[in-house]
Amino acid sequence: MAKLLKIESPESVVEKLTSLEKRVIAPVRDGKLHRFLPVKRKEEVDFGYFQAEGSMKGFFFPATEGILKFSTGTKMPQVEEHEIEFPETFVVGCRPCDAAALPIQDKVFEWDYVDEFYKARRDSTTIVSLACTCADNNCFCTSMGLAPDSPEGSDILMVKTEEGFLAEVLTKKGEKLASLLDLKEKGSSEDRRRSAVSASKLITRKFKSEGVPGWLESNFEDPLWEKMCTKCIGCAACTFVCPTCHCFDIVDEPVGTSGERRKNWDACTLWHFTAHASGYNPRDMQHKRYRQRIMHKFDYYPDKFGKFLCTGCGRCIRVCPVSLDLAEVLEEISSRI
Ligand code: SF4
Ligand code: SF4
Repeated sequence: MAKLLKIESPESVVEKLTSLEKRVIAPVRDGKLHRFLPVKRKEEVDFGYFQAEGSMKGFFFPATEGILKFSTGTKMPQVEEHEIEFPETFVVGCRPCDAAALPIQDKVFEWDYVDEFYKARRDSTTIVSLACTCADNNCFCTSMGLAPDSPEGSDILMVKTEEGFLAEVLTKKGEKLASLLDLKEKGSSEDRRRSAVSASKLITRKFKSEGVPGWLESNFEDPLWEKMCTKCIGCAACTFVCPTCHCFDIVDEPVGTSGERRKNWDACTLWHFTAHASGYNPRDMQHKRYRQRIMHKFDYYPDKFGKFLCTGCGRCIRVCPVSLDLAEVLEEISSRI
């Protein structure tokens, strides 16, 4: 069982870490939005937020990243590896649904081929999440096997209780941080139990998800896809804000006789994702591209790794310009099982 310790506040964690000149990433207010940004002082941080615009995905898997440099101006082409630094980093105050996305991504980037850049960033980062105290009707984490106070992916989970804050220390990295923060006083398990009961009441949007992969396998050509998903305009906003989407493309970008090989985010909802050089596209209609997004998240990935490629954070629903609601599609599928 995880160790429970009392903690003054999430701000006190930032204060201590920044005073030790550690690299800290935390939610910062930016106009009407919140973003995860590096901070130097606790005054920069706003933990009274609902959900940050983007997840922490970009800190581990940047939207665009150079892999190597090359030049072809000499008799033998020259290749130079990128030198990237991976400083010790503490993410403080991310939501449990974003922390839970990290082990989901780990399975992909540390599977048959280990992505060294991704792994080095993950190894050097400690995740201190903050349990939710509010939710909206786009949140559906409990239908994905999670909760507003899930420990998955966190090294320490901070939970607000009636008495103050508790730190649930979950991993060796978490223990190291607890000792750095000098946390010693034991927390009450009764307090934690009460906070779990309150957290479970936050999510009102619920549906049965267990049978979804089986339905998807048997209903690839169901009229549901065309009926519910044709309105998708293929903007890929849902993919880019998603903490679990991880498709990328590797592109050589030459300028004259030198250039860079880069790894860039890609998205299955984009037309060119499956377009052949001949112009033929096997996913020739937009609803087929959106179907792929659902098939990958709720059938192919679970088939390989045993869990959904989704944490129910609801970002894709909030950001979609045509109000295509992923949970509504899943609810429709669930109603047919
Ligand atoms: S698919 Fe949507 S709800 Fe699921 S993790 Fe991605 S953004 Fe969140
Ligand atoms: S579902 Fe919405 S956000 Fe995603 S690609 Fe289609 S239109 Fe864009």
